[in-house]
Amino acid sequence: MEEDALEELPPPASEEADVEVEREEDAPAAAELDPETRARRDAALRHVRKLGDPVLRASALPVERFDEALEQEVERMGELMHDALGVGLAATQLGVLHRLLVFRAYTEDPVTALVNPELEWTSEELEVAEEGCLSLPGVHVEVERPAQVRVRAKDPTGKDLRIQAEGLEARVIQHEIDHLNGVLILDRISREARKQAMRAMREAQETASAA
Ligand code: ZN
Repeated sequence: MEEDALEELPPPASEEADVEVEREEDAPAAAELDPETRARRDAALRHVRKLGDPVLRASALPVERFDEALEQEVERMGELMHDALGVGLAATQLGVLHRLLVFRAYTEDPVTALVNPELEWTSEELEVAEEGCLSLPGVHVEVERPAQVRVRAKDPTGKDLRIQAEGLEARVIQHEIDHLNGVLILDRISREARKQAMRAMREAQETASAA
């Protein structure tokens, strides 16, 4: 495959910062991936529901069965998140209305799955950082959220989990719990920022369909 460097703008500096949720490189950055990684990513992204799909606005239901099917679902989500180069993924993004999410804020970390997560506590301190979303290709917006959180959940075997998180990890967890409630980053920004984001998404779609 031939890439014409002149036609590709370098990604903005903020793309380099390790603060993106569901790291979603936009078209120019994606073009810089090696062909194999890119093909795997594109294949994974085809499983991810995009804005406009009503399932993204639905509220997921608590998981009641901690069985092998759940473990398989978790495994599949971890793989898709990895292939899509995301740092988090909620079941609703795959069209499954389960209160289930996976995340891995830093590549050296193992994938963590949270079943039926509840935000038990959030800090008064807020932080603003850029987020992307696998369901919103091309969109990167600044989102303000509590800097620290404490979450209660179950692991895929039904064991109680309690997680205290800060920084990117706290952000990813909140972003994914939002998904389980049908909330998107577009709901957490100003109207003006939302308009810009929608424009960016349209452009990303045009670029993708022209590719
Ligand atoms: Zn998302």
